[in-house]
Order: sequence, then C-alpha cells, then structure tokens
Amino acid sequence: MKNIIFCDFDGTITAQETFVAVLKQFAPELAGELIPQMYALKVTLRDGVRRILESIPSSRLPEIIEFTRRQPMRAGLPELLDFLQDSSVPFVVVSGGLRSMVEVVLDSLVKHTHAIYAIDIDTSGSHFRVVSPYEGETELVDKVKVMDLYDAANIKIAIGDSVTDLNMALTAPVVFARDRLAKYLDERNKPYIAWNDFFDIRTALIQLWNT
Ligand SMILES: [Mg+2]
Repeated sequence: MKNIIFCDFDGTITAQETFVAVLKQFAPELAGELIPQMYALKVTLRDGVRRILESIPSSRLPEIIEFTRRQPMRAGLPELLDFLQDSSVPFVVVSGGLRSMVEVVLDSLVKHTHAIYAIDIDTSGSHFRVVSPYEGETELVDKVKVMDLYDAANIKIAIGDSVTDLNMALTAPVVFARDRLAKYLDERNKPYIAWNDFFDIRTALIQLWNT
C-alpha cells in the first residue's frame, strides 16, 4: 500500500491563522460584517470568503503577499519533507486560502511538495476574481474533493488544526490533529494522533511505518 499526505496550510503549516487576518486587514468593513455571520453559520464560507475577496482591489495583491511573507512556520517541516522524499510519500497541501500566500510562506519548500490546491486569484480586472476548481457546497476549496482525486488504494493521511479540516479528517484513515480539530474529533470518537510540530509527525510516521 502507498501512503499520501494531505496537509492544511493556515494554522497548520503557519503557526498562526493568517487568512482571516488578511481578510480583516484588506477588507475591514465587509470582513467585519461577514466573518461573524460565517462563524454563526448564517453565511457559508464559500459565499462569505468569495464576497470579501472580490471586494479587494487587484492592485493590493503584492501587499497581501508581503503581509503573509512574515508569518512563521511551525517547526520541522523541512525535516518532514526530507523524510517523506526518502520514503517516496507525496505531500499535498490543501488550503482554503490563496495559492500565492501558500507559496510565499513555503518558499523553497514548494518544490518538495507533490501539489498545492488553493484559491487562485485573477487580478486582470479592477478587483480580485476567485478561481477555485474544487469548490464544494459550503467551502471554496472542498478538501475531500481534492482527496478524491487520488487513488482510493492509497492510505490517505490528513494533517490539520481546525473545523475546515473536519471532513478531510473524518474521511482519512490516519489523522494528525491539533487545536480545535482535535476537540471536534474527540466529540465524534474519531481516533487521531495529537501533534504540535512537524517533528512530532515525522517521529510518529517512522513508528507507524516500521511496525
Ligand atoms: Mg487551518
């Protein structure tokens, strides 16, 4: 059996949640109105995030990228990616945020990922236009749809931190969960491996694959 890893970006690869901070910083009025409604489940993430993003002028993308560049990553990702490369296990990043944010934070590590799925932004018009080929019912990036692109014969391993990773975590046979995701899985009696940084994940995978 082959293994494949699906990893969230925001709050998982980055130590802090960055995307919500970007929405608040670059579209303060609409974010102030819609983010509470999304938390209250009155507006879907798909519609709310799209409306906020599409209110941002195209000229501001470079500032968003600069804002994101300063965000620190959780420790151990280069070491985990080295280990996965030696083990021939693909590492797929699945983010509900912007591809350009993922790429600027990962920087030279991008080439060690197998693929990155995220929201693309078309800046050819006056304002952002969201381009998201794996849109779901309620989210701009349906992480389970992305997992389903890959052969069911693979053992799928999910890494995440929050509610946007819940469906992915419930689908995957092996899950690394921290923060709110761990609480949601506790409530559903879904087993997971607790983690704090990517060194923990490497250690757990070495144990898992050597037994
Ligand atoms: Mg997250």
